[in-house]
This record gives sequence, structure tokens and C-alpha cells, in this order.
Amino acid sequence: MQASAYQFWHPMLHPNEMKVREPIRIVRGDGCHVFDDGGNRLVDGVAGLWNVNVGHNRPELKRAIAAQLDELEYFQIFDGLSHPRAEELSNLLIDMLAPEDMRRVFYSSGGSDAVETALRLARQYWKVAGQPERTKFISLKQGYHGTHFGGASVNGNMVFRRSYEPLLPGCYHIETPWTYRNPFTEDPEELAHICATLLEREILFQGPDTVAAFIAEPVQGAGGVIVPPASYWPLVRAVCDKYGVLLIADEVVTGFGRTGAAFGSRLWGVKPDIMCLAKGITSGYFPLGATAFNQRIVDAFDGNDDFSGAIFHGYTYSGHPVACATALANLKIVRDENLAANAARMGDYLLQKLLPFAECYAAVGEVRGKGLMLALDLVTDKRSREPIDPANGYAARVAEIARLHGALVRPVGTKIILSPPLVFNQQHVDALVAALDAGFAGA
Ligand code: PMP
Repeated sequence: MQASAYQFWHPMLHPNEMKVREPIRIVRGDGCHVFDDGGNRLVDGVAGLWNVNVGHNRPELKRAIAAQLDELEYFQIFDGLSHPRAEELSNLLIDMLAPEDMRRVFYSSGGSDAVETALRLARQYWKVAGQPERTKFISLKQGYHGTHFGGASVNGNMVFRRSYEPLLPGCYHIETPWTYRNPFTEDPEELAHICATLLEREILFQGPDTVAAFIAEPVQGAGGVIVPPASYWPLVRAVCDKYGVLLIADEVVTGFGRTGAAFGSRLWGVKPDIMCLAKGITSGYFPLGATAFNQRIVDAFDGNDDFSGAIFHGYTYSGHPVACATALANLKIVRDENLAANAARMGDYLLQKLLPFAECYAAVGEVRGKGLMLALDLVTDKRSREPIDPANGYAARVAEIARLHGALVRPVGTKIILSPPLVFNQQHVDALVAALDAGFAGA
């Protein structure tokens, strides 16, 4: 085997894998398609990595980036420094998040940063609010919150934690309300009640005066697109309120229309205290993260006059002018083209076309999704719902054949995940489904 022609390690992969296979080189993108270095045109079934929501190669975004580079490529916003794009974007975000009563944003460079900011400022909130012992975090067993030590500590999946332990102390994990796989019940509403009660029991077990926050994704993404029952988030909000625990919604994937609602929290009619945003905020044209805070958090900081209320947190690239300009142009498209509504429509269409896969193919245990985030759950036996062995490469083979038939999909362990651009149309869906069909037929 030839030595590889490059010297970087791939995220989320054992380096040895690249000794036995070639990378899939994506060299160009346009709309809902990307092109590999062999000139093959592929439907982008993953929108880059859940993020290229407005599609590739949008002139509006390229123009905004170029214009900002001409005006001011970079300056910091530490201390009292500012620039127009950071200010304009904060106003737009607070406007977009008005139904959730968000009041302030804190900028960073991506999703992991947005989560880290949420966790750190949640702890600081409690110190400023006079309850310094509230430091613990509770999260869900299938949750994914990025790769910083804080996010990895609240992550649910062992593979993201194990190699990096010991992690942050004071993080506890409870059952996900996952109708397809749980030890309790098949009834969604009963499951929502049980899982919300588990949160309450964990808070009581820890001592409410020691719990800072509960963090979760409104629809779990990397864990396998797990859509909670409709009553789960309202019940969780009520439990958090009962014990004063902050509710952090990690909207890194669900924000800006992916689920078919403008934000995942809005799907469930819930107002979190803190929201983590990234990915779709710029559609991936430039890295940016943002964490939004409600009045309760703002009041605590506003009411504090000593040193402890100073925010000793921030990134060189907090509020990067090019990132903010990109987000402004991107969110204009998201709003003008009502991409959330398109995600709802195309998501339904895609789901309807994929549901028969669970009848046709022995390995497809369940097809599920919300808006344009969907997953096919792969099993060895439909009745027992025993997952396939992730080591046997089946999901990767399906993805490989689908790619040879013109579409990129994402094999993740025992699932195939789909998260196409929110500008997807019926032809794109049809092409994606045909390629995936070929993948399952041939794998
Ligand atoms: N939170 C969630 C819900 C995510 O899905 C991700 C990334 N997929 C992150 C946080 C981390 O974001 P990033 O990779 O941009 O650091």
C-alpha cells in the first residue's frame, strides 16, 4: 500500500484505517451536490456535517465574506472592543430567539466551544447568584455535546469519553427517552414521564442545591437521531423549574431550521435558560459558535457588583468579523427562503420514502427522523432489535455502494445518518433514496 499523500489525522477514525483505504476526496461543491476528485457528482446527503444548510457555493455568502475581508478581516471583542458585524448579528440572533426569551449571546468558534461556554457560564451563574455549590451537570446517555473536556464529560456515548478519562467530575447521565430502545415501555408518553421522573430522582439523589444544569439536545443527533416524545421537554422544563436547575438546550444541530422548526426547543414549546448554537449559524462557510442566555442569567450578572461577575472566558475568535458577516448573510437566506418550512416538507417526503426500507431490508430495524435529520437503525434481528456489530463494516458498505450510486450518506456505528442541506428538493430526495436503496440491496 502506498503511503498516504498527506500528514493529518482524521477526526473520529483510527489512524490505521487509512493505511488500507484511500480517502474520499471532496474537491468542489455546488448547491446540494459535491464533486470528488474523480469528477463524480454526489448528492450531499449529510450537508457537510449537518451544517451546510443553505447548500454549497452560494454567491451571497461568498460576497459577504469577501466584503468583510475588504473592510476588517479581524479584530477582537475582548474588554470593551467591538465591531459592527458582532453587534448586528447579536441583535439578529436575539430577534430570532425572541420566542425563547433569549437576551444575550456569547460568541465562540464552533459547537464544542458553545457547549463549553454554556457549562462554564452555568457554573458562574450559580456563583454569582449566591449558590456556589451548584456545580453538577446531568445529561442523557445517548447525548453528544462535542469534544472539549466539559462537553465530553456530559457526552453519553462511551466511545467519546473512555480514551480521555478522567473527565470533569460532577457529571451524571440518565436514560434517554428513546422509544425504539429502552428498558421501560413502548408507549411514548409513558416513556416521557418515566424519563422525566428519572431526571427528578437524579436531582434529588444528588441534592438539588448541588445541581447546576441539565443539558440535552432537543432532538439527539450524533446519538442516532433520537426524537423524544412530545411531552418530554415540557416535563423536563417543569422538573428543572421545580428544583431551580438550569435547562441548557444544545441546539448545535437542531438550531436554524434543521428539525422543521426554527429551533428544536420551539418544536417542543419549551424555553431553555441557555441555548448552544453553531453549524447552521453560518452553514459552514466560516466557523462560528454562539451561546444564548435568558433574562434569568442576565439578571444574575447584572445584579452582581463584585469581581466574581466578570466573565473570564472568551476565545481569540469570539465574534470573528468574517464569521459574523457570514452568519448575517446566511441567516438572511434561512429566513427569506423559509428553510425551516422546507426542511419540514422535504423531511416528511424523505421519511415517507425511507419507511419502506424497514419492510424491504432485514437489516433496517427502524427509520426515524424529524425534519431533515433522519437515521436508519441497523439490526441483526428486527424482533429483538439487537444492533448490528459496528465492527463488521456493514454500515460503511451501504454508504460505499450508495456513493457509487451518486450520494453521500454517513455511516455512524450501527446507524446510517442523513442530514442533507435544508434547500433539498424532491429530485434530490429521490436521487438520495435511489442511491441508498442500491446501498442496501448490494451490501
Ligand atoms: N453539540 C452537538 C449537539 C453536536 O452535534 C456537535 C457536533 N456535531 C457539537 C456539539 C460539537 O460541535 P463542533 O464539532 O462544532 O465542535
